[in-house]
Amino acid sequence: MSKGVLVVVSGFSGSGKGTIMRRLLEKYDNYGLSISATTRQPREGETHGKEYFFQTTEEFENMIRQGQLIEYAQYVGNYYGTPKAYVEEQRNLGKDVILEIEIQGAMKIKEQYPDTVLLFVTPPSAEELKRRLVGRGTETEDVIESRLVRAVQESEGMDLYDYLVINDDLETCVDEVHAIIQSEHDKASRNEEFIERIRKQLKVFVKGE
Ligand code: ADP
Ligand code: 5GP
Repeated sequence: MSKGVLVVVSGFSGSGKGTIMRRLLEKYDNYGLSISATTRQPREGETHGKEYFFQTTEEFENMIRQGQLIEYAQYVGNYYGTPKAYVEEQRNLGKDVILEIEIQGAMKIKEQYPDTVLLFVTPPSAEELKRRLVGRGTETEDVIESRLVRAVQESEGMDLYDYLVINDDLETCVDEVHAIIQSEHDKASRNEEFIERIRKQLKVFVKGE
């Protein structure tokens, strides 16, 4: 069995990444969503081990020292990082593994795993981004302000991604993400075993001539 595709999904805070991922996992099989570690406080309704592994700074720095993270970054005053074990385990089972992480982490992943597919999610406009971020109602005005400033910086890196996904209608967007990931499986470079097998089978015809 071939290894699952490694996918990174980034996008401005409030662009709808979390919503898209939840729907994608509900609608389609064969995805594994990596759960990150973070030092930020849980939002209402978030639980340890589901959205994130919520940790103290000391615990997080221990994970860094022990080499348990594939990558980590700081984002608006907190640490965020991807635990290594889950990603390796799920990919070896043939699952497509999705990391929902910010841009610095995305670039580190691409360096370590060059065949990673990088997706950038954006709302149709900046005005809609602010509306969603305010509408979510999970952050103070100050934090929303910092996240919008961060979005300005992140927009500079959008062209480093393989695909731009506009999250206007949610269902359309979810289907588009699924189609992009599935078509990755058909890349010739991901099907070397099949190519070798059919080459061998074809050689029988030459002998039989
Ligand atoms: P992110 O994970 O990127 O920070 P969320 O998934 O939390 O973003 O979405 C931010 C807000 O926008 C949420 O309130 C969510 O319900 C809303 N939202 C997400 N996708 C859409 C969409 N396609 N149309 C309208 N609202 C959306
Ligand atoms: P939030 O606080 O809104 O859940 O996440 C803030 C930002 O951190 C988002 O852009 C999210 O994609 C990113 N993020 C979440 N987990 C990780 C991670 O493990 N590594 C990195 N580099 N970024 C992450």
